[in-house]
Amino acid sequence: MEQISAFDIFKIGVGPSSSHTMGPWVAALMFLEQTRGNKIIDIRVKLYGSLAKTGRGHGTDIAVMLGLMGYDPKSIKTKKINKYINSVDKNCLLEINRTYSVPFIPQENIEFIYKNLPGHPNALTFIAHLEDGERVEETYYSVGGGFVQREGNNVSGTEDHSAIFPYPVSSEDDLRKWLRKTGLSISEIVLQNELTLRSKEDIDKGLLLIWETMCACIHKGCHSKGVLPGGLDVERRAHRFNDKLLNGVHTKDINDWMNLIKVVNPSFSNVVNWISCFALAVNEENAAFGRVVTAPTNGAAGVIPSILMLFMCFYPNKGDKDVIRFLLTASEIGSLFKKGSTISAAMGGCQAEIGVSSAMAAAGLTECMGGTPEQVLIAAEIAMEHHLGLTCDPINGLVQVPCIERNTMGAMKAFTACQIALTSDPSKAKVSLDNVIKTMKQTALDMNDKYKETSEGGLAINVSVVVPEC
Ligand code: SF4
Repeated sequence: MEQISAFDIFKIGVGPSSSHTMGPWVAALMFLEQTRGNKIIDIRVKLYGSLAKTGRGHGTDIAVMLGLMGYDPKSIKTKKINKYINSVDKNCLLEINRTYSVPFIPQENIEFIYKNLPGHPNALTFIAHLEDGERVEETYYSVGGGFVQREGNNVSGTEDHSAIFPYPVSSEDDLRKWLRKTGLSISEIVLQNELTLRSKEDIDKGLLLIWETMCACIHKGCHSKGVLPGGLDVERRAHRFNDKLLNGVHTKDINDWMNLIKVVNPSFSNVVNWISCFALAVNEENAAFGRVVTAPTNGAAGVIPSILMLFMCFYPNKGDKDVIRFLLTASEIGSLFKKGSTISAAMGGCQAEIGVSSAMAAAGLTECMGGTPEQVLIAAEIAMEHHLGLTCDPINGLVQVPCIERNTMGAMKAFTACQIALTSDPSKAKVSLDNVIKTMKQTALDMNDKYKETSEGGLAINVSVVVPEC
């Protein structure tokens, strides 16, 4: 049974896409590992399928170069990304692992090949010649949410999970069995599993760092103006909401800012506006190659922070314990979708991104609001039920339109799903979470490929935009 940690579902990284940016970046780092100890003298990269069709807009070529340069997406200084890439373009040299340089012309050494490889629509192959005469060729699949699978190797994910979880879960049914047997909440079940991988102190520290990164991302997005990169001229709007909601009051730092939000009038319209503001802020940062938390993908990175920020700001006396509970619960729902269906837009359309993040946020909020485990599962089910069939059709392959606004919709549905679940009797529910996960998978299989992150259908072809040549 696949074991997925909360730290596989939530990963600190760089926008704009988990499958098209983070995954290829991780694959490049994995390829470097394969050649470790042997000097590369030349290297080529082939991007296949969806990675080719929307790879330019999603920054896949940039991610591959940064990975081959040995930068870690968790810690790279995002402000310097342009400088690193401009240097490759200008000098036609790629500094492998920041140690030695090889000739590299991005337009020639990175090929975009529109056909799919059989393993997955997001595939990439690295071909390198080494100093000792050896030729190394490896293919990787970016299977969504930053998870990467090497061809011929079943192990996916980014962590070594050799420990065995005491409460293994691959479906809602399994989870219900453990909930009945132990009397624990969903977050407590996840915690027991996590404890086989790391100490309680490390779990708390890691989850709070994820929250801190989410907060910093919202704060930065709320205070950044201008136009997003990529040529669509999409204007950033989160700062407008922020200024309007705070009546133009300036705050000195993030704590000051959060404290001010906590004392604004929590009227219906203010709360709804803040949900949109928080989600827009994250996804504008994501589109600008900013620091985000994959949750469970980058395209949908705004939904969970938006709902968690709402909870922390508008419900009294909330603290670190609530953050940890929220994230543990949400991670379990994300992992159920990954195991039973997909979190890859190239496999399942946008239901796999916004739909899953909405279900995760609904579940986290419901547990923190005192819902029973059954209500938590219903909340996740309701949120996904109303995203079934949602297509992925990013204009110009950029994670901007419809992606940024789509996060606000996912967050609103998560909030509504939680409210419905908290006033529902779970024994009367007609649709289970397992039902909806299975339906999502079938819908994904039935969907035409043009609606699966190819920019060959939907808004991507019906909205004409002229992007200037760069
Ligand atoms: S449309 Fe949805 S799935 Fe597609 S890139 Fe945008 S957020 Fe991701």
